[in-house]
Amino acid sequence: MTGDRDAAAPAPVVAGERQTIDFLGVRVDVLDTGGLRDRILAMARGTGPHRVMYVNADCMLIARDNSRYRQALNRADLVYADGIGVVWGARLLGHGLPGRNTGADFMPRFCRDFARHGIRLFLLGAREGVAAEAGRRLCAQAPGLQVVGTHHGYFRPGESERIIGEINRARPHILLVGMGAPCQELWIDTNRDRLEVPLLWGVGGLFDFLSGRTRRGPQWLLDHGFEWLCRLLVEPGRLWRRYLIGNVKFVLYVLGQRCAARDRGG
Ligand code: UDP
Repeated sequence: MTGDRDAAAPAPVVAGERQTIDFLGVRVDVLDTGGLRDRILAMARGTGPHRVMYVNADCMLIARDNSRYRQALNRADLVYADGIGVVWGARLLGHGLPGRNTGADFMPRFCRDFARHGIRLFLLGAREGVAAEAGRRLCAQAPGLQVVGTHHGYFRPGESERIIGEINRARPHILLVGMGAPCQELWIDTNRDRLEVPLLWGVGGLFDFLSGRTRRGPQWLLDHGFEWLCRLLVEPGRLWRRYLIGNVKFVLYVLGQRCAARDRGG
């Protein structure tokens, strides 16, 4: 597999500050980790609410079948590739994405920038106590970081109002929402106008990793596209369907689109 662009491949769309591709009906930003950090800092210091979301192979399969989720992604201000499958799949369809951006890798570094710029965080999601522990560990790694609140992610729809009040009173610049896809994106999309927060950011299982609750696997495996395998080995009961069946479905989905594009081209 190469990163070369097919002659007939669609060029990325540049609109305002964004350079994006249309990957299987989802608008995905073409940017590396430095570019992501710059855009996050700008959004967090601007007036919001801006929405930032990620996609991986599992997300793309959900987006294919769930139009509300797909619309939430396409209404976001930035969507980055968090899984290597999306980078490979996009390349197979002739799009160039520089690489994946994975929160567990970049968040401690980003938090040092947040600390320097006085950017306050609120962490919403995961099991009771996990976001709080993730916040404590981030503060230890990024001295001066302000985590102004945390809340678990297992609440009933009727409790959203109270939680939104709690978040607004804490006055964060960034709300990290780690409730898994598509739940977090739909929650962000639904409650966007009531959240007085410049940046709403879906982060999936990030708090589990940052808190040490879930192990990530050896770095060399993560660096070579096998994060999914490490996650599968750690949580086989929950994730076998997502990775063993989902990855095959995703590959077939991408190959099907590639054949269809070739037929149209030819
Ligand atoms: N989660 C949550 N509320 C829920 C369901 C899940 O806060 O109602 C949390 C869960 O504890 C975990 C995260 O959402 O921390 C989902 O992690 P996963 O790795 O599945 O996220 P994804 O791969 O979808 O990004």
